Amino acid sequence: MSRIVVLGGGESGVGSAVLAKVKGFDVFLSDMGKIADKYVEMLKEWDIPFEMGGHTEDLILNADEIVKSPGIPCDAPMVVKCEQNGIHIISEIEFAGRYDTAKKVCITGSNGKTTTTSLIYYLFQNAGLNVGLGGNIGKSYAFQVATEQHDYYVLELSSFQLDNVYDFKADIAIITNITPDHLDRYDHKMENYVKAKFRITRNMKEDDCFIFCSDDEITIRNLDDILIKAKKLPFTQKNEVAQGAYVKDDRMIVKVGGNECDMYLQELALGGKHNVYNSMAAAIAGKVMDIDNEVIRNSLSTFQAVEHRLEKVLSIKDVLYINDSKATNVDAAWYALECQTRPVVWIVGGKDKGNDYSVLKDLVKEKVRKIVCMGLHNEKIHEAFEDIVGKENIFDTQSAVDCVKKCSEVAVAGDVVLLSPCCASFDLFKSYEDRGRQFKDAVRKL
Ligand code: ADP
Repeated sequence: MSRIVVLGGGESGVGSAVLAKVKGFDVFLSDMGKIADKYVEMLKEWDIPFEMGGHTEDLILNADEIVKSPGIPCDAPMVVKCEQNGIHIISEIEFAGRYDTAKKVCITGSNGKTTTTSLIYYLFQNAGLNVGLGGNIGKSYAFQVATEQHDYYVLELSSFQLDNVYDFKADIAIITNITPDHLDRYDHKMENYVKAKFRITRNMKEDDCFIFCSDDEITIRNLDDILIKAKKLPFTQKNEVAQGAYVKDDRMIVKVGGNECDMYLQELALGGKHNVYNSMAAAIAGKVMDIDNEVIRNSLSTFQAVEHRLEKVLSIKDVLYINDSKATNVDAAWYALECQTRPVVWIVGGKDKGNDYSVLKDLVKEKVRKIVCMGLHNEKIHEAFEDIVGKENIFDTQSAVDCVKKCSEVAVAGDVVLLSPCCASFDLFKSYEDRGRQFKDAVRKL
């Protein structure tokens, strides 16, 4: 019996272990840290041997194949040791893809993955398709392949999930955009990060479709260097294209083969230029699947924003509070600021990932009245924006409660208080979700 060892005991790892068990492998799961109670219960329920709080080499290096969870870096000592011992290392996506005959729509990119994935899932559901949602979102893909039956999957794939794919093939692949992010995991080399993103197009054939943003410089610069057999369908807000999607006279126009669909931008449920891109990507995927124009229009105009993405929280004394806690890099915050039509009290800060704030300066000048920093170290933010908004208009806070209190003091009727922090959350919060929820709680208590 072949032996599969799974490294990492979270959603991805436990899902992979269950699939390995169902497929009759000798399976073992190992985690350096603590495994959450929920997953311990699952492993017991499925009778899967596991360890936590350390790796036992003898139980790992006898594997025929390793399934590595995306959170574990490639240079983790145990991963390096497995490689030195010649053991093939794959990702959950590669493993589950071997047992899945469903058509797969796969979405990657630096920003907009969750929104675009959720939009497409909603659209496919509305079209009556038997579709599963997985990858970096919701339930593990491998677990669903083990326990459910779907004709289609919509999978959100981070670059980490793409790192160890080899034979996996998407039927429709989408790269929303590529901007610097997570470079610490890629030897601080942008080209390595770009390559990981483009792995989503591996193995695609002429009948498959690759959907991408032709306004995105980095995507376009790399497009010709990579052999992609799939049909290329760009989306753009800058010019007209013969196939793909573009914007003209305030309408989004989608053309795929002889099929065409259009709708007014103001009908889109999600506001902001970035969401026009996300909606275009989803609409192209819908047209590739030959979904009715009415269903596409209805879906894109009734979709509810995903939590922590430009989520409207409350309006208090005509000050609107918006939670965009998921904007953890400069590019994401750029789009959040860009779509604001009211004066902004901007909440920014957290764990800086080597941010270059210069691209935000024009927008801050145009839209931001006050800046409320929420983070342990705010010096870079002061340095970047003091000249623009004035020293007296930047404030420092170190908790969601204090931050929201300060915002309520400095905001005036007609303002928007926008949490779009540009930074990771780990200096003060457990995660971006924790940051967003603490922000919303504090707003509701005002
Ligand atoms: P991801 O899953 O890639 O992190 P999300 O859909 O969760 O992306 O959105 C994260 C943040 O990025 C949002 O808060 C929004 O401000 C911004 N964003 C969403 N879509 C785009 C896009 N197409 N281009 C740039 N920024 C975007």
